[in-house]
Parts: sequence; structure tokens; C-alpha cells
Amino acid sequence: MPDTALMPIAGAVDPVPVARAITPRADGRIDLIGLPRAEIAELFSDAGLDAKAAKLRAKQVYHWLYHRGATEFAAMTDIAKSMRPWLTERFVIGRPEVVEAQHSTDGTRKWLLRTADGHDFEMVFIPDETRGTLCVSSQVGCTLNCRFCHTGTMQLVRNLTPGEIVGQVMLARDALGEWPRGRMDFEIEDAEDETVGRYSADGRLLTNIVMMGMGEPLYNFDHVKQALRLVMDGDGLGLSRRRITLSTSGVVPMMERCGEEIGVNLAVSLHAVTKDVRDEIVPLNRKYGIEELLAACAAYPGASNARRITFEYVMLKDKNDSDEDARELVRLLKAYKLPAKVNLIPFNPWPGAPYECSTPDRVRRFAEIVFEAGISAPVRTPRGRDIDAACGQLRTAAEKKSRAQRDREAAGALTA
Ligand code: SAH
Ligand code: SF4
Repeated sequence: MPDTALMPIAGAVDPVPVARAITPRADGRIDLIGLPRAEIAELFSDAGLDAKAAKLRAKQVYHWLYHRGATEFAAMTDIAKSMRPWLTERFVIGRPEVVEAQHSTDGTRKWLLRTADGHDFEMVFIPDETRGTLCVSSQVGCTLNCRFCHTGTMQLVRNLTPGEIVGQVMLARDALGEWPRGRMDFEIEDAEDETVGRYSADGRLLTNIVMMGMGEPLYNFDHVKQALRLVMDGDGLGLSRRRITLSTSGVVPMMERCGEEIGVNLAVSLHAVTKDVRDEIVPLNRKYGIEELLAACAAYPGASNARRITFEYVMLKDKNDSDEDARELVRLLKAYKLPAKVNLIPFNPWPGAPYECSTPDRVRRFAEIVFEAGISAPVRTPRGRDIDAACGQLRTAAEKKSRAQRDREAAGALTA
């Protein structure tokens, strides 16, 4: 097992994404999850299939992996029986390991997951009346050290691989029992072309994805892009890009590429409207300031009144929550003519946090000012409080438990 603790850790303000090779498995087999069709075909051809057979088998395997959620080659019924052991000898179908799975009384579910080389990260599922949102992590830890964020107190361990990112969505579908059993589950938008079929939201629990778990997705751009392409592919997981939101703390140089090459909805962690306060709570602001960030938002490809940009604003007592702050927020969003909605997030405290949450009255008044200016400003209800379902919190709680206790709890966690 490589010693990732020896990896260089990127600086706070000018981080360099830490690219790290996928750990080879001890048994020499290759995990296919996270790979696009063409790479699977290449592996099959390297393993001895001729080009035509490699392409055909890759198409079939891809469909079984990402569209049907198969977890073993033996289940791939349209692949010749003799071929299935050939696949099993050489390849595996991975999922992140579940260390702990928790179920809140309000329906929120949280998983502590572990990479094959032993790093823990998190995933949260939040159902409400109209949708079910999966909050996906992009890195183990984060380089950015936002002062109110618990993940920000951990150093970056490494970027998650495309397989570990798409693997979260696949694991959630496993746990929720939501793989299609056949084409019956599909809305076929164009009968001639099966690949444009999309899941309908009707009756489905997992309808939306937000890249809002641990880490800064735009500092792991290539892996996030590869993973989300698999999620959005009609013959892959088949979720519409309109149901996917990527949240960034403001990595300005990557925002345009995000809109152009991934094409998902954008959320921006604004959290403050003055240089002093944003410099303090989101240190990346010292590199890409508020004006530059809002200009990049105004230029975000695909943003419109029908597809507005979400501005996240965590409510911190006596820090960023005055009437004046609310009025300045409105002024800025209007000055840049942004198709915007604001999400007001009550601060979720963690042990040792240097801030407190604003009072309910303060949050209400702040929301009123923004709303009265014609900008939607819902206050997010804290979810899963009984299971600490906030950024970075499950991992810390689990570190206090014994390994044996976690193993006991993990047994059967997926079926819980
Ligand atoms: N790195 C990206 C995405 C992950 S953080 C980003 O910063 O946008 C996802 C969201 O959770 C951010 O808006 C972040 O500000 C918010 N968040 C982090 N810690 C929080 C806390 N303790 N209470 C409330 N919101 C928090
Ligand atoms: Fe990283 Fe986002 Fe947390 Fe900031 S808020 S430390 S960018 S995960």
C-alpha cells in the first residue's frame, strides 16, 4: 500500500491538485468502474480480444455496469457464458467500501466510505417531498481551509478517482434499490435511439446530485468531469445535467470550462459580501476576489433565468448576517445582472468551530431583505442533525469509535 501521507500537500491559497495514480490491486485485476466505454475497449483489446470483439464487449459491459448496476460479470446474461470467467479473472466491478451507514429520523442517510487504499470520505442522501438529493464528495479533505467548514480543517489527502466519484452514486442506487430492471423503467425520448432514454423522476428516490460533499470539485476537474459524464450518459446512469449541481468556493479560472465541458448547474459558495470578511472565512478570496468571481458567474455558460446560479450563504452570527450585508448582497447580484437564487444555510457548528449560527430572527430578517428585492432566498432547514449530516462531521465522529465497533455496524449496512 503506497504511503499517501508522504504526498506533498498543496498550499491554502494556491493549491495544486494532487494527482495520484490509482492504487493497483494486490491480485492484479483492474477495476472497471469510472472508465468510459473506449477505455474499457482498450483494456479488453490489451487482454487479447481483437478490436471488433473488444468494442462489442465493451459496449455490453458498459451498459451492465453503469446502466443496470451489475456488480458481477456472471449477471451479464447477454455475454457468452465462456466469456464471463475470462472477465472475472482479469477485471473487477468496484464500489467504495461502506465503513458506516446512518439513517436519520428525518429520512436523511449518511455513509462513511473508504477508498481501497484506506482513506475515509462521506456521502449524504437528503430526501424531501419533491426530490431526493445525493451529496457527493470530490476529494478526501480539502486544500482551501474555509474557516467555518469542518472539511477545511483536514488536509487534502488526495483527489478521488472518477470511479470513486461515480461509485458514490452507484452505491446509493444499490442501497436505495434503484437500478432499472429493464427498459420498462425508461422514458424513451426518441424511439430510434435508445441512448437518449432518461430516467423519469416519478417514483424515484434519487433524482438530483450535488457536488457538495468533501472537497473542491473544480480542483479535481478532470476526474469530476469523467465521473459526471458517466452519470449523465443515457446509456450510463442517465441523470439529466439539469438535475446535477456543482458547488465551488470560487475557482474562477475553471468556471467557464465547467459550464462548457460538463454543463451542469452552478452553485457558488459566496458567504460574504466584503473583502475583509470573505478573505477571512473563504481564504481563496485573497486570490480570486468577489468582483472577479461575480464576473465569472455572469459569464457562466448556460446560466439563464430558467437555470439560475445558486449563491450559498452560510449564516454566521455577527460575522456576515447584518441588514447591511443583505442589502450589499442584493446590490452585487443586481450590479452583475445575475440570474440568481440565494440559499441561506444556518451554520452547522462543530466542536472547536470559531463561529456560531445566526439567531433565527436574524436569518429571517436577512432572508426578507433579499426576498423583498425580488431574489428567491430560501432558508435551508438543517437535515439529519441527529446523525451529524454536515460536511466533514461523520468522519470525525467515526474516528473516535473502535475499529471493531465500526466493523460490526458496517456489516449489513448496505441493506439497512
Ligand atoms: N468546496 C465546495 C463544495 C463543498 S462544500 C464549496 O465550498 O462550495 C459545500 C457547501 O457546504 C458549501 O457551501 C459550504 O460552505 C457548506 N458548508 C461547509 N461547512 C458548513 C457548516 N459547518 N455549516 C453549514 N454549511 C457548511
Ligand atoms: Fe473546501 Fe468547500 Fe469546505 Fe471550503 S467549504 S474548505 S472549499 S469543502
